[in-house]
Amino acid sequence: MSTPTQHSQDLLSRIQPAQGGREVLDPATGELVGRAPEASVQELDHAVARAKAAQPGWAARSDEQRSATLHSAADTVEAHAEELAQLLSREQGKPLNGPNARFEVGACVAWLRATAEFSLKPEVLVDDDSGRAVMHWRPLGVVGAIGPWNWPMMISVWQIAPSLRQGNTVVIKPSGYTTLSVLALVDVLNSVLPQDVLIAVPGRGDVGEALSRHPQVDKIMFTGSTATGKNIIKSSADTVKRVTMELGGNDAGIVLEDSDPTSIAEDVFWGAFINTGQTCAALKRLYVPESLYDQVCDALTEVAAKMPMGVGLDEQNVLGPLQNKAQWEIVDKLVTAAKDSGARVLLGGTPDAEAPGYFYPTTLVADIDPHNPLVVEEQFGPALPIIKYTSLDQAVEWANELDFALGSSVWSSDLDRAEEVASRLVAGTTWINKHGAVDPRMPFGGARESGYGLEFGVEGLKEVSQPHIINR
Ligand code: NDP
Repeated sequence: MSTPTQHSQDLLSRIQPAQGGREVLDPATGELVGRAPEASVQELDHAVARAKAAQPGWAARSDEQRSATLHSAADTVEAHAEELAQLLSREQGKPLNGPNARFEVGACVAWLRATAEFSLKPEVLVDDDSGRAVMHWRPLGVVGAIGPWNWPMMISVWQIAPSLRQGNTVVIKPSGYTTLSVLALVDVLNSVLPQDVLIAVPGRGDVGEALSRHPQVDKIMFTGSTATGKNIIKSSADTVKRVTMELGGNDAGIVLEDSDPTSIAEDVFWGAFINTGQTCAALKRLYVPESLYDQVCDALTEVAAKMPMGVGLDEQNVLGPLQNKAQWEIVDKLVTAAKDSGARVLLGGTPDAEAPGYFYPTTLVADIDPHNPLVVEEQFGPALPIIKYTSLDQAVEWANELDFALGSSVWSSDLDRAEEVASRLVAGTTWINKHGAVDPRMPFGGARESGYGLEFGVEGLKEVSQPHIINR
């Protein structure tokens, strides 16, 4: 087991309030991690005013200078990677290893570097005898970033990096469940950023609401639940704010008849159980043809049974607890409903009520009705329902029938066939023989109630810019 390093303790002491604050407990052990400050709406107003004042100076720097600053930001995150990963692991619960805390800090570095390299140049729209028209991309002003607790550092970077690159300043409100992780990241980033270009305001939903309403905030980048996204759209309406909404998901995966169950099992597992299932674009319902059903169930059970779950700082673990009690209760309620309906539990399904922490065992559920709540509701935890199908058309219909449409996947040995099936799915992204493989070069966003607006790549830069056409 790792113990928190001195560097990690130093980082914590810089971001904790001198006195008071809300106690933050490790979701794996219930031990005290630290104390989180809580800002008021008045402090938010002050932060927005500072960010507004800093914005023209930041925008006046050249594009090359802002790109270089993002590379410096990546360097400093890299230099502090281990202490950031330790704090993230203790507060969020995710293990250091596997696609978890160290992986998340690594993703922060990767997204900062990739965003530093993208470039959004003025576009010549017309240049002929009739005249010349050029589209320029101006900064919007102050971007408000509101984030969730599942990937608190990585998603913050997804919001911060493109905004800064385009000459905006940022006021970020972390989730109250993972305040320390985001404050630590911002502390590290601010060692290379000019003053007030990035300000964290560690409040709860009321501060998020005030940020969404704020007349001096020009754009909200939001990742979280669909219900909160709808509230933010309403609060931001009076000021006609731009919004990017990355909301809930309940992604389908369809296995085709020509798949090899043993060769896909590990990738299907991680597509579903990355971050112990607490991922918006995780595989949440797997549709398997009758001809392969037993083989896929067996192969997945074999892979899942050997993945160690436990305390984050224990180097051997790759799965952790649920981050909070409310999330644990959602997962437990849905798995219980599935069991009560007569579905067959292949693995897990019975949490140890006496054990400390919000652990829920890795759970695979077979022979489940396609409209069972565990299938059609966003459970956001370590449970995967495996649904049998006899007609591919039926599977596609089931995959497409929810209000959520963030990601989806098709699993097949025939890539052309898989692509044809993918084209029939409604989603922001459909992966083939993988799931949830986000990439800074590829725009990412949802369809239907999973949101709108794109993140990443040049398209992501456009979302935090105001197009301005000069026509002469
Ligand atoms: P929320 O959507 O409620 O919270 C996300 C962020 O929004 C938090 O920072 C939260 O602050 C803030 N917030 C809450 N209310 C408002 C408001 N009225 N205006 C502005 N900001 C607000 O997610 P939860 O943490 O409550 O999780 C609920 C469900 O959402 C989960 O069970 C899961 O299904 C889904 N979810 C989806 C995520 C995704 O990546 N798409 C991520 C996390 C959850 P605070 O929490 O501090 O009050």
